[in-house]
Order: sequence, then C-alpha cells, then structure tokens
Amino acid sequence: MKIPRVLVVEDEKAIAELISVNLRHHGMLAIHVMDGEAAQRELDQVLPDVILLDWMLPGQSGVVLAKKWRSDPRTKSIPILMLTARSEERDKVSGLDAGADDYITKPYNLQELLLRIQVFLKRTKKKDDVGPVIFKIGDLNFDYTNLVLSNDKVEYQLTQREADLVRYLCLNANRVLKRDEILMNVWGKDDYFLGRSMDVFITKVRKYLKSQNAAKLQTIHG
Ligand code: CA
Repeated sequence: MKIPRVLVVEDEKAIAELISVNLRHHGMLAIHVMDGEAAQRELDQVLPDVILLDWMLPGQSGVVLAKKWRSDPRTKSIPILMLTARSEERDKVSGLDAGADDYITKPYNLQELLLRIQVFLKRTKKKDDVGPVIFKIGDLNFDYTNLVLSNDKVEYQLTQREADLVRYLCLNANRVLKRDEILMNVWGKDDYFLGRSMDVFITKVRKYLKSQNAAKLQTIHG
C-alpha cells in the first residue's frame, strides 16, 4: 500500500511538529517546510497527496500560494487544506476562492484535522473510478480527465473543483438540483461558507457556458 504523503507548509515550528508527529503516528509521511519557496522546491521534486497550507506565512501568503498551485497543471488537482487563524467569513470565502478545498481554524483540533485529510485521501483514491469523463454540452466538449472545456473557438482550462461541478451538472442535466445536493456531491459537505464559495463557482461556470451558448444554467428560487 502506498503511504500518503502530506506536505505541511507552516512557519510556526511547534505547530508543524505537532501536526507532523500526529500524521506519522497515523501512517502518513509528513514533509514540513517553513515557507512558499521551500514548498515549491518540494513540489518540483515530488507531488504530495495533500497540502496543509498555513494562511500567514513569511513571503508569499497561503492564499497567493493556493492560487498559484491551482493554476499550475502539475499541482492543480492536489487537495489543499488551509490552516488559518482568521475566522472572518470574508477570509474563509477568499481562501476557498483562491483554490483551497477546505479550511480549518486555529487552534487546530488534531482529530478534526486528521479526519479532513482522510476525506481528501479517500476522494483521490475514488478518482480512478469516476464513470463517464467526456461530455458534450451544446457546442462545447468537456473533458473531465484533462479539466478542459473547449470547442474550435475557445479552450477553458478549469480547476479541479470547477470540473467536478460541471461534471455533476452534466450528469444531472435537465434536473432541478437543490443547493445542499450540489454541495454534498461536489464539495462533500453542506456548510454555510462552502455555500458562499459555491455561488462564486456557479457564476464562473455559467460564464463559460454562456460564452458559447452551450447550455443554460437556470436558477429556480425556492
Ligand atoms: Ca503562520
């Protein structure tokens, strides 16, 4: 069995050590780096299964790094769990919009942290068996494996999350989907902050589809 590899990007040494020891205790390989530069060097060498990313870091912040890794084809599908001391709603939403898949606020509950990581690892494993991966949406072709939405005029490179959302909508075309249904199936849980983040993603996807008259995403109130 492959040992899950977790990259811990955290400048507070004591916290990072506590997390790393716990991950190792649960059969994972924890690689600790102090800042974005060291994290990038590590990512250039070996890709981890999960990234734990502190928000406040010397140099580039966690949000900047999440954005960067999301837009890099090599790293875009690695789940990112944002570690943050900030509990402002605005901050949580901007962390998720930057590309983090989930967040956990300080002080960390280690049990919860492990649980979230295990959810990510399970999801990655499940990816080998996702069902259909090529879809036709009006004039657009959607390639879920490569996260590309394209026709002969345009090519949109989607993030993993955008692609998950488009795929879920394709599989449920012509159906009315409830918000919590979409959240549970695409994000894995129903949560107020994720709901706010979902709205941002829906707006993005709507724009892609509208630009080519590919399909209509209709909102039905209530
Ligand atoms: Ca920090």
